[in-house]
Amino acid sequence: MIIQLENRIQDIIPAQIETCLSQLKIPFYPVETQKASYLVCTPEGPFDIRLVGHLEGVKDVHIVGDKHKMVNKRWKVEDTVIDLGEGLSIGGDEFAIMAGPCSIDTAENIELTVSKLVEKGIRIMRGGVFKPRTSPYSFMGKGMEGLLEFYSICKAAGIKIITEIMEPSVLEQMYPYVDIFQVGARNSQNFALLEALGKTDKPVMIKRGISGTIDELLFSAEYVFKNGNERLILCERGIRSFESAYRNTLDLNAVPILKERSHLPVIVDPSHGIGIRKHVRQMAVAGAAVGADGVIVEMHPDPDKALTDNKQTIGFDEFGQLVDQVRSVHQVIKGF
Ligand code: PEP
Ligand code: MN
Repeated sequence: MIIQLENRIQDIIPAQIETCLSQLKIPFYPVETQKASYLVCTPEGPFDIRLVGHLEGVKDVHIVGDKHKMVNKRWKVEDTVIDLGEGLSIGGDEFAIMAGPCSIDTAENIELTVSKLVEKGIRIMRGGVFKPRTSPYSFMGKGMEGLLEFYSICKAAGIKIITEIMEPSVLEQMYPYVDIFQVGARNSQNFALLEALGKTDKPVMIKRGISGTIDELLFSAEYVFKNGNERLILCERGIRSFESAYRNTLDLNAVPILKERSHLPVIVDPSHGIGIRKHVRQMAVAGAAVGADGVIVEMHPDPDKALTDNKQTIGFDEFGQLVDQVRSVHQVIKGF
């Protein structure tokens, strides 16, 4: 059960509500987000919401019997739309396209990529500067220096930035230069990071863990929400399976399931999802067909020379086709 309160609690729960819940022996957890105040209640068994619905200070009561509470569609029937400002949003009717290199490299390549995005009417560029690498001897990204360059070029062109954050200690430093924080698959259950991101007011896109279940992804989002940030996006990026013919198994089943269970926007990452350049476009199209709210794609002016993930990085021509095709498919399925 979720009780939305009339007023901000700021650590003080209205006495009449607290007394009522205590008398009924219902455990409750205050959740104070940047938008509103809630009490997440976990009654055992069925509960008559009229017992609390009439109390002063209660705005709304919703029965949410599932384990996931604040990210649950049962509570918030309308889909969450993330407003990025300047008329740009993720979720709702819009189909979001985010593209750029796996890792930020040269200023010239950022500029070329930005020009391509502008040409295609795309307003979000991806690019890692802090890279989680399987081997400690691999390139780790250009760090803050890379982020500053990335930011200044994008800002001048009106392009928003999504980039990965790996640890809470760099959050403050990164904050002014980031529009969407990405939590990578390897950090999907880094609870300290999720809690820290809950305390920011910037959107957070959480990728599904490499061997993560849908439940675990939803709980990761619940962590961020519980800590105050409702501006969340979920991302299916492929999971590890027994199959070795491709890098990961893009689990497109997850899209309708996540959309059914949660009010949050769902993005598909076909690049990591299949890991093979020549099939990325098809899988992006499949993501649009299955009802995703957008795609995030690795793209580079000279894909073979991309510093990381070059085998799954597409070039500009392929990207142009991908954009046209996902947009057409999205238009078709919107009518279904
Ligand atoms: C990435 O987006 O480049 C990345 C490292 O993704 P993931 O966390 O899904 O592996
Ligand atoms: Mn990558």
